[in-house]
Amino acid sequence: MAQWARPAIRALRLWGPGGELAWARRPRFAGARPPTCLSAGVASVFGNGGDRTQELFLQDVAELIRAKACQRVVVMVGAGISTPSGIPDFRSPGTGFYSSFQHCDVPYPEAIFELTFFLHNPRPFFTWAKKMYPGNYRPNVIHYFLRLLQDKGLLLRLYTQNIDGLERAAGIPDSRLVEAHGSFASATCTVCGRAAPVEGFWAEVMGDRVPRCAVCTGVVKPDIVFFGEALPQRFLLHVVDFPSADLLLILGTSLQVEPFASLSEAVRSSVPRVFMNQEAAGSLAWRPRSRDVLQLGELVDSVDKLVELLGWTEELKDLVQRETGQLSGRDR
Ligand SMILES: [Zn+2]
Repeated sequence: MAQWARPAIRALRLWGPGGELAWARRPRFAGARPPTCLSAGVASVFGNGGDRTQELFLQDVAELIRAKACQRVVVMVGAGISTPSGIPDFRSPGTGFYSSFQHCDVPYPEAIFELTFFLHNPRPFFTWAKKMYPGNYRPNVIHYFLRLLQDKGLLLRLYTQNIDGLERAAGIPDSRLVEAHGSFASATCTVCGRAAPVEGFWAEVMGDRVPRCAVCTGVVKPDIVFFGEALPQRFLLHVVDFPSADLLLILGTSLQVEPFASLSEAVRSSVPRVFMNQEAAGSLAWRPRSRDVLQLGELVDSVDKLVELLGWTEELKDLVQRETGQLSGRDR
């Protein structure tokens, strides 16, 4: 993960008028809703004659989707969508992956994702990687909600910070996916730069061996973005995706990692932003917009609520049953 991947405290100070103090001064994010100006298109959906003081709620967003007023949905997701699959959040005290390295030969938890430390001692990273073996974790209802968006032709692009591959496992096609921090789907030699076969990589990792290049014996690293590394080329799609989006869904991310976090500001100001997370965070907390909808609390509950408002509950249930049945079948 690159230098941008540091917690975006610096960005908060730079961007927030008054920085963190400005954030603290915004009491309306304790639960109250900011006022909203609906666009002409939105007003026509609700038939309110253009009441520009009407607030936007989750139900309104569901109506916009149902009325096909939003058909180019960009989604940003983080670790929070994977915790219901049993993958602990990296940074959760006591339960996160970082905590599990406190007793290993690691100077500080983040070091396992730093190239310098990795080249010095790759074993802690591969110990962690072993836990992420494809198939160890399954997509959950949130991943399948995103799949449903795709199946209905509403998903313009899904930007994920997760490297667990559960979006792919849920059936989101590569063309709709931007794995902003890379994935385990490919691997590269850290010395000669040759692509290494993923099957061989996993065979070594599962056997508790450090995978090495068949050509130069250099350590092979999955194409996960470490601190100090460049983001995948596909991340550049944001330049066209966000300005053309008509709805932004942000799920399960505290928006702490740059430049990913800043994407939340890249949609047009008229575009509704729906933020579902345990707590308010990032620019939606310290620089809110009039069309923001904050749905705070348990993420699965929030997604369930939106699905219900959309009238997709049965359809989603069927999809989950069908897909989890297929995944189980592949294991046999
Ligand atoms: Zn090599």
